Amino acid sequence: MTDILVFGELRGGKAKKITKELITAADRIAGELGGEINGLFVGEGAASAAEEFKGYGFKRIFYAEDDALKNYSTEGYAKVVSDVIKSTGARYVLAGATAMGRDLFPRVAARVDGVMFSDCVDLRVEDGRAIAKRPVYSGKVFIEITSKDERPTIVAIRPNNIPPAEPKGDGAEIVKQDSDVTIDTIRAIAKEIVPLAGGRPDLTEADIIVSGGRAMKDASNFKILEELADLLGGAVGASRAAVDSGYAPHALQVGQTGKIVNPKLYIACGISGAIQHLAGMRTSKVIVAINKDPNAPIFEKAHYGIVGDLFEVVPLLTEELKKIL
Ligand SMILES: Cc1cc2nc3c(=O)[nH]c(=O)nc-3n(C[C@H](O)[C@H](O)[C@H](O)COP(=O)(O)OP(=O)(O)OC[C@H]3O[C@@H](n4cnc5c(N)ncnc54)[C@H](O)[C@@H]3O)c2cc1C
Repeated sequence: MTDILVFGELRGGKAKKITKELITAADRIAGELGGEINGLFVGEGAASAAEEFKGYGFKRIFYAEDDALKNYSTEGYAKVVSDVIKSTGARYVLAGATAMGRDLFPRVAARVDGVMFSDCVDLRVEDGRAIAKRPVYSGKVFIEITSKDERPTIVAIRPNNIPPAEPKGDGAEIVKQDSDVTIDTIRAIAKEIVPLAGGRPDLTEADIIVSGGRAMKDASNFKILEELADLLGGAVGASRAAVDSGYAPHALQVGQTGKIVNPKLYIACGISGAIQHLAGMRTSKVIVAINKDPNAPIFEKAHYGIVGDLFEVVPLLTEELKKIL
């Protein structure tokens, strides 16, 4: 059997956008290899998320929600997820390559004696096996990987790479997963997740990102990027130089040592295009660069380039967009 388990990550009691993308990936495998697709939600909001996803083609949706699981803990969640993998005999487990996914699934893989593929961007089937695609060397090369044996294979997929699934109207069976996790057995727990001010979308899931570099000169100047991002419903990002200079918090850093993003539109303002920055955003569908140096390396990667002073161009762009949006 090639049963698949989709882990639906919750944030603030709601399923993250990646959940629907994982369902599309699961459909691809099940479409070729057969087997049933089950879902799992753990934590606050798990029961209502299970209800919400009833019509997405799952056979069963497991949920675990109690005081010990309300907030994320590696130990507690790893126990519940591995219990469900073992009880369902899932061959493939699909999860988001998110902060939680990166922390949780290596431990789950160890618990179920499974195989872990991190940071994947695509999944397909060939010769009866799922083949995952993932970038290496900071995104310069892609490799395809598959597992040789029948152990559970966990594939962590980066957000924004696979189109989201649409509801299919089939009713899943909702199953409450009993958990023997207690607060006393958990050594470290996330007490609170504090969202970034501004209520903007998560950088890794955003469709549009407006990023600023060293050229921003001051934290207060980021407000021109925020204005543009808010108009477009996007997120604000930053280069490491901007973060190291104290203009933006580290949570906004895009790049090799920051977040890996894959939006539909990435607007780089006053960012030179260093290899470490490109490593975090080079797969963006459309890249627009605003830079006063016509020889800046970012223009080699940009689909559209504006040579000019960002302090003139960005407010102008915002004004013009206001007229049409
Ligand atoms: C191990 C390692 C990891 C790293 N990880 C990351 C990472 O995750 N993310 C990251 O971003 N960097 C990372 N870096 C740093 C990276 O090498 C670069 O130093 C950094 O990306 C440069 O940031 P920047 O483009 O904002 O600054 P700069 O390279 O200084 O570029 C500023 C740009 O702004 C332009 N400019 C200046 N004024 C204006 C204006 N008024 N209007 C328009 N344009 C203007 C300039 O022409 C220039 O191109 C890493 C480095 C190392 C060694």
